[in-house]
Amino acid sequence: MDTEAHRKRITSFEERCRSEGVQATVQRRAIFEVVLDLDHHPTADDVFETVTSRIPGVSRTTVYRTLETLARMQLINRVSHPGSAVRYDRNIDTHHHLLCDQCNEIIDVSDERLDTLPAPDTLPAGFEIIGCNVQFRGICESCRDKEDPS
Ligand SMILES: [Zn+2]
Ligand SMILES: [Zn+2]
Repeated sequence: MDTEAHRKRITSFEERCRSEGVQATVQRRAIFEVVLDLDHHPTADDVFETVTSRIPGVSRTTVYRTLETLARMQLINRVSHPGSAVRYDRNIDTHHHLLCDQCNEIIDVSDERLDTLPAPDTLPAGFEIIGCNVQFRGICESCRDKEDPS
């Protein structure tokens, strides 16, 4: 993420904190910045490891709670896949994911056709769709190289 994009995200963090009445503490800001810096859809533990190297003494609980708060405030996205830990996503634009079944790497993909998928014919009455995220499962390049070194 370039410095300009980074600066804009920090500004929106400060504005959102103000409008939601959440204090923009040094810790919250540091946790948010770690998510912006890590581009691999980190877990809460990944974020915790990096935050403690920057500001020692932050508890794991604080990191977990803050990530949930930031996701609720729509400053970051929360990604969950069955059977694996929740991941956090700095990318809040509409996008989709490639998920490696072996190493759990998540790769962002964008394709307008996926943003406008038709609603299922079997949609239950009264259900209102507010969005859709497509997840493709597969095996990433480095896992395939390990499997078949030819
Ligand atoms: Zn992989
Ligand atoms: Zn993503």
